[in-house]
Amino acid sequence: MTIGIWILGNQLHSEQAALLSRKNNKQETPVIFIESLNYVRKRPYHQQKLVLVFSAMRHFAEELSSEGWSVTYKISENFEQALNSWIRANQITELRLVTPYDRPFLTFIQSLNLDSNIKLIPNNHFLWSHQEFKQWTDSRKRLLLEDFYREGRKRFNILMEGDQPIGGQWNFDKQNRKPPKKSLTPPTPLGFEPDQITQQVINDLKSSQIPTYGQIEPFKWGINRSQALQVLECFIENNLDNFGAYQDAMVTGEYTMWHSLISPYINLGLLTPLEVIESIEKAYHEFDYPLNSVEGLIRQILGWREYMYGIYQLMDDDYSQKNWFNHQEKLPEFYWDSSQTDMNCLKQSLRQVEETGYGHHIQRLMVLGNFALIVGVSPQAVNDWFHSAFIDAYDWVMVPNVIGMGQFADGGILASKPYAASANYINKMSDYCKSCVYKRTQRTGDKACPFNFFYWDFLSRHQQQLKGLGRMNLILANLKKMDSEELKAIQSQAQHWRESQ
Ligand code: FAD
Ligand code: SF4
Repeated sequence: MTIGIWILGNQLHSEQAALLSRKNNKQETPVIFIESLNYVRKRPYHQQKLVLVFSAMRHFAEELSSEGWSVTYKISENFEQALNSWIRANQITELRLVTPYDRPFLTFIQSLNLDSNIKLIPNNHFLWSHQEFKQWTDSRKRLLLEDFYREGRKRFNILMEGDQPIGGQWNFDKQNRKPPKKSLTPPTPLGFEPDQITQQVINDLKSSQIPTYGQIEPFKWGINRSQALQVLECFIENNLDNFGAYQDAMVTGEYTMWHSLISPYINLGLLTPLEVIESIEKAYHEFDYPLNSVEGLIRQILGWREYMYGIYQLMDDDYSQKNWFNHQEKLPEFYWDSSQTDMNCLKQSLRQVEETGYGHHIQRLMVLGNFALIVGVSPQAVNDWFHSAFIDAYDWVMVPNVIGMGQFADGGILASKPYAASANYINKMSDYCKSCVYKRTQRTGDKACPFNFFYWDFLSRHQQQLKGLGRMNLILANLKKMDSEELKAIQSQAQHWRESQ
């Protein structure tokens, strides 16, 4: 019996479960990596995402070779062809791989016609297994991130003093999320020059006919574990102190603020969630970083990231198709080309995604997601766009974030109310409105900010459904007080805008 291991592009860690299972038999275990061209033609991926994934795969394949594994690296039209010829050449009887995190990819693998058996090994990429998350949900009446996060803090003994949270509080959000009132100078993010392998991937992609999105250069992402660790170290040294305070702030030209930029690396397996959390906790104890920032960042990974994966696993297959508001509009064309919009917040956010594949959480949620939600775009079209556009996008993380959180298409499983907002919020948390052709204070008229008329139009279109959510009652009371002529003008302007797209 020969066991072979197939390593997927987001399972690039030497301690991943399939490699661990054959750690003592490296030389007798053929290992394969495959770049499938058919697969990347499925959607127009951001060019830097393709460069990042392929370059990271090629680097990891070299690392495994030098550790003594017997590695094959194939660039092929499709997975099946590449796998079967390798299976036959190596007389493989059991093809082992870590269970894919993305459900569509798992279904795809199960549909392959292979010349050997497949054995799926449960993944060790998340802190909570599917069974553990399920057990936690079974014991609860309500699924709240806050409860899950507290349980995670206790279970993994993170920022705890006995059974109490360090600092006497679980949450320091009151000190966080400050608006960018004064002029801010965030640290410069750590970038890397492409090495020979990365340059080769860039050249290959430039000469290919693969449909893509975004700019390919300058490419500054790290492509191996050593560079990912440098990004983490740089974040702790330069950004951690202010991370909490300006977590939600947006400033023109400042693409990354104090954010960590580690999602592409954790999602590929180049960093593990526990090592990130432990490094941050260690830095807190050694250097006395502000607890609001330390706790804020740990909450993102130990809380949100694990919670999103848990919910993704827990939901039925049709979760990604949910559409609670029955939104059917097409995504505005300018999402694919920032030069086509004159709304400054959208232009700035879209431009930076085109240039880097990155936007921080509030740009994703409160600018890009919020606008699509209040216009009434189909949640699946929004999800498709996010999947194409972002450097760190994978089905398991986008479905809950885009369908659940951003578009409220699950009707309230993930969020207790929709993340819908007018220009008020964007003006409070950014400097975008200052240089915009639209007037942030106007709801109707030529210069009215589209976030305003769409916000009130959204509330009025869905008021019956929103009434049931409780947390929307205050704002619905304001809608009720609105002059009926003004509401008509708002609705007509929203409809006219949609028709003009
Ligand atoms: P930081 O702000 O520095 O946070 C640290 C880490 O916490 C992140 O690297 C990430 O690993 C984790 N994290 C924080 N929030 C979340 C969350 N809601 N879900 C999962 N992990 C989280 N994240 C992705 O990894 N891929 C996506 O495709 C993605 N799409 C999103 C789409 C929408 C509409 C929204 C609202 C959020 C999305 N997120 C996604 C979550 C979050 O915005 C990104 O993880 C974060 O912006 C990545 O940048 P960072 O590493 O600088 O994060
Ligand atoms: Fe965006 Fe409206 Fe502000 Fe312009 S005025 S930046 S469109 S929120």
